[in-house]
Amino acid sequence: MATSHSKNALDKLNKKLDEKQQGALIPFSKFLETLRNDPYPVFRNIFHLFYDFVHYYLPKGVEEYPDDPETINFKDYDCTKLLVEGADHPFFVDRLFANKLVRLTDSLKRGVQQNKVYLFEGPHGSGKSTFLNNLLDKFEEYTNTPKGVAYEVIWKIDKKKLGWSPNKLENIIQDALQIDGCEKKDCPEPPKPGKPLTSNSEYLEVPCPSHDNPILLIPKHHRKEFLEDLIKDTKFKEELFNTKEYEWVFKKEPCTICTSLYQALLDKLSSPAEVFNMLFTRKYSFNKRLGEGISVFNAGDEQQRSDVVTNQAIQNQLAELFGDSNKVRYIYSRYAKTNNGIYALMDIKDSNVHRLKNLHGIISEGVHKVEDLEENVESLFLAVINPEDKEDLEKEKMKAFSDRLEYIRQPYVLDYKTEAEIYKSTFGKQIENHFLPRVLNNFAKVIIASRLNVRSDALVDWLGNTSQYNRYCDENKLLLKMSLYTGVIPQWLSEEHRKSFTANIRRKLILEEAEKEGFKGFSGRETLALFDEFYSAYAKKGQLVNMTNLMKFFNRDELRSKIPRSFIESLKNLYDYNIVQEMKESLYYYNEKKISTEIQNYLFAINFDVSEGTKVKCVYTGENLELTNDFFDTIEIRILGAHTGSSARKAFREYTQKEYTSKTLTQEIQIEGKKITETMLYKNLFGKYVYNLKENVLDPLIENLNFRNSIKDYGTKAFDTYDKKIKGDVEYLINNLTKKFGYTKEGASQVCVYIIDNHLAKKFS
Ligand SMILES: [Zn+2]
Repeated sequence: MATSHSKNALDKLNKKLDEKQQGALIPFSKFLETLRNDPYPVFRNIFHLFYDFVHYYLPKGVEEYPDDPETINFKDYDCTKLLVEGADHPFFVDRLFANKLVRLTDSLKRGVQQNKVYLFEGPHGSGKSTFLNNLLDKFEEYTNTPKGVAYEVIWKIDKKKLGWSPNKLENIIQDALQIDGCEKKDCPEPPKPGKPLTSNSEYLEVPCPSHDNPILLIPKHHRKEFLEDLIKDTKFKEELFNTKEYEWVFKKEPCTICTSLYQALLDKLSSPAEVFNMLFTRKYSFNKRLGEGISVFNAGDEQQRSDVVTNQAIQNQLAELFGDSNKVRYIYSRYAKTNNGIYALMDIKDSNVHRLKNLHGIISEGVHKVEDLEENVESLFLAVINPEDKEDLEKEKMKAFSDRLEYIRQPYVLDYKTEAEIYKSTFGKQIENHFLPRVLNNFAKVIIASRLNVRSDALVDWLGNTSQYNRYCDENKLLLKMSLYTGVIPQWLSEEHRKSFTANIRRKLILEEAEKEGFKGFSGRETLALFDEFYSAYAKKGQLVNMTNLMKFFNRDELRSKIPRSFIESLKNLYDYNIVQEMKESLYYYNEKKISTEIQNYLFAINFDVSEGTKVKCVYTGENLELTNDFFDTIEIRILGAHTGSSARKAFREYTQKEYTSKTLTQEIQIEGKKITETMLYKNLFGKYVYNLKENVLDPLIENLNFRNSIKDYGTKAFDTYDKKIKGDVEYLINNLTKKFGYTKEGASQVCVYIIDNHLAKKFS
């Protein structure tokens, strides 16, 4: 503990020292040298910086269905670093929204849609303000890392070079004092406000309030040639000169202050080189609290009467140096503070409605009037909004503006894994230990069902009105939809439907229909209260929360009315189906070598006529085979299942023999040089064999009362009294359930007894 404390303290101190460092002035010539060697970080406008920021904290997404030709390139992004880690109120993004966010940042960087306000529209309790707050905090943190560095202009004027001398200063003070009616040289009265003493320092620092990128100080018509000569990296130059995202580099002008100051200095010094000697750069210090680079306005924040800002001390000195207070007017608006930064509005109501409207000119023209000067403003404008406030906004006649407002729907979480993550984050990771596997996720699925639209045209287009999944899916196929929203194609989906799940269907389902969901049902806040109640009621010592508890909990009118009809019953069916599969998977074992030998012998033997007693030697295994009807029947029953009749088996044998001679032997083995065990036909038979083995593994055991009782007695003294074979099976079963499916030993035995007592194996056979 102590070391982590001292490390924290040290980290903090280092951060503070770094901040100081940020203020260090870098001469323009040195800045150019840095740029020459590593141009990338310098040429980032706010959209580009934002893109880099998001991708810095977002590890590369994992392709949801690799090698699937119908993929729509949805990825599984881990947003922990971006919105959870280090946040006071972690925010969890589901995969649908994460993909939307990534697409947005990508399009911003490409420079397609920059003149807009992006409004995150979400229902009450969806946590959209938390989302934006966390995002902005993280953005500030990013800009303090070496990867997130941005540069801005600051002037450091050598006053002596402009003819200033300390003597002259005294004269000015005297002049000033005389104007104020004081004759004596050592007048004790302080100067009147509004006429502060000009500084006695030899240098005057003039920061650019617009945080101009220093590169803009290279006169526009020389920039291209200059950068062509300066930058070494030809690949970077190629992009810089030819892509839309870098257009700004050759289009933008510095702010009015920098422009006029540059001109005024040039007039006095008559040498651009001398002017550039007074030009410095420093790290752009983003600070949300100070409103530098990131400004956040709440709806209740009062509006300032005037948005014109000046700095009298700097203004006076500039007037003194240039002998004219109009030559360089140190005046700007508060929008300048977020030029090349982020301007955010939390909730579009009260004062923020006006703030939003005031953005109209800036967004459509990129320019804002400050008295008679035109100020260029380029910011990333973000906001959050409720659906009702959006309606109000649309009622007002804002036609010209409305195409500048881009809504990004931010619904309640629609992906059950993320939903379950929220419970774990809120109530602690240990809650999981109090649930049987799958039950916690099932709670999340009930909540999500309340948020989904029951009707889906995409699903109907895809599956028709099939009833083939009724044993484990609800009539509206919400369970299927949920699984797909989480990025999983369920195992029980038929091969045929898997193939017809085309990119078109996916786009319609995941991009179009999901866009309209998640604005009703249990809110995030309501859900946490419900979960708390559920957890306190059922997570007792020595007892694992099960599906029966879940069903009982939701069996209340006020909750049921929000959940689609018969959804919970279907959820239980799917659960039953899944645990039976788990039990089968855990109980069966196969001897791969034995199966392999049998199949190779079979593939060889089918090429001979069966006449009792024929003996052949298999070329693949070297075994001597006696070809009897029994020989074929035994293997075919294992491959096809016991229910297959003799005519079906005969047809299968003929088909297999044809396949073997026409493809397996002549094509794959003789031409492609494959081994028999590498051929399609072999693999196909092997898969069928194993599948049937697994399907039927429970049959000999499930009706055996001793088997049931021994599971129940597992872990007690009574268990020792059962016979060796049963004990072996049960131990194997329980071990696999814990290893493969995350059960505790108690949980595993509980779930097996439940399967046996409810005859679930039969239900799904
Ligand atoms: Zn400037």
